[in-house]
Amino acid sequence: MESSRKLSSLGVVIPCYNEEEGLPMLVEALKEFADGVECTVSFVLVDDGSRDASPQIMQSICQEDARFACLRLSRNFGHQIALSAGLAHVKGEAIAVLDADLQDPPAVVAKMIKEWEGGAEVVYGVRKNRKESLVLRGAFTIYYRLLKVITHIDIPTDAGDFCLMDRKVLDQLNAMPERNRFIRGLRGWVGFKQVGLPYERPARAAGTTKYNVFRLFNLAMDGLTSFSAIPLRLSTWVGLLCSSVGFCLMVWAVFSRLVLGNVVSGWASLAVMLLFFSGVQLIMLGVIGEYLSRMFEEVKQRPLFVVESKGGWLDRSDSAQS
Ligand code: UDP
Ligand code: MG
Repeated sequence: MESSRKLSSLGVVIPCYNEEEGLPMLVEALKEFADGVECTVSFVLVDDGSRDASPQIMQSICQEDARFACLRLSRNFGHQIALSAGLAHVKGEAIAVLDADLQDPPAVVAKMIKEWEGGAEVVYGVRKNRKESLVLRGAFTIYYRLLKVITHIDIPTDAGDFCLMDRKVLDQLNAMPERNRFIRGLRGWVGFKQVGLPYERPARAAGTTKYNVFRLFNLAMDGLTSFSAIPLRLSTWVGLLCSSVGFCLMVWAVFSRLVLGNVVSGWASLAVMLLFFSGVQLIMLGVIGEYLSRMFEEVKQRPLFVVESKGGWLDRSDSAQS
């Protein structure tokens, strides 16, 4: 691809939660990456309230290498919020987002820079092959396909948060006030020139995944509910369907009583229907509850995250300003 512009500075955000095993390896990889590219690179390591030695490791990295800064949140806020915190503090003409476990290889970022120089404004990594278990893989595939069908914006299939984006895209993201931050969705919502870059996603370099099934489910619900009202409308459709079936049954019951002379028997079918439809009603109430609870979160207008301390160049740039 021909290059029409040159990237001068790159900022990299890395959310970390209990990553002590992987951090030294990550830092080596990051340094090697930064030495290998032509632009200046700065890193923001976000410590999402880790309870292991991650903060100490980060601090020593910041002391020995001026390109690193760390941002410690006051508690564990979750991946998407930690990412938002980093994005609010990062500097650079373009910004990259990586996981701390080397599942998003820094070498791919170099390719993303090439795409940016070719005119792309968002370059997101598309996972070529997933290394997770078969069940999880199936669930991911179904979820991303479903998301694509029912949301009106283009949330790319099999793309995670791994990406490089232009400063103007980041400014838009940072200006979004919402608390339910499904970054890959918001990034798609913003628009601009988006390019997918296929890459092999390796298994975690060290440590264990910080997402359990419960957290993944919550993330999936955030994605669905913040970009689509269709689940809410589902209740209307299901309700209409139920009423029409009920109406037909009623006509049939009257007909069979008056014309065929049947006495209605069979309470079992009645009981089954009662149970089934009260189940449907409860599910639909649950759907409304999902939206309501998210609105409740939004109206409280609390800050997204609380910063406990800053280290490295973030600390220095603060004291330079004041
Ligand atoms: N992470 C975080 N806060 C959390 C959970 C995870 O900052 O509450 C970070 C984690 O350290 C990692 C990234 O988010 O850098 C992705 O997490 P993980 O690798 O566990 O997720 P997976 O790749 O298994 O989906
Ligand atoms: Mg990971």
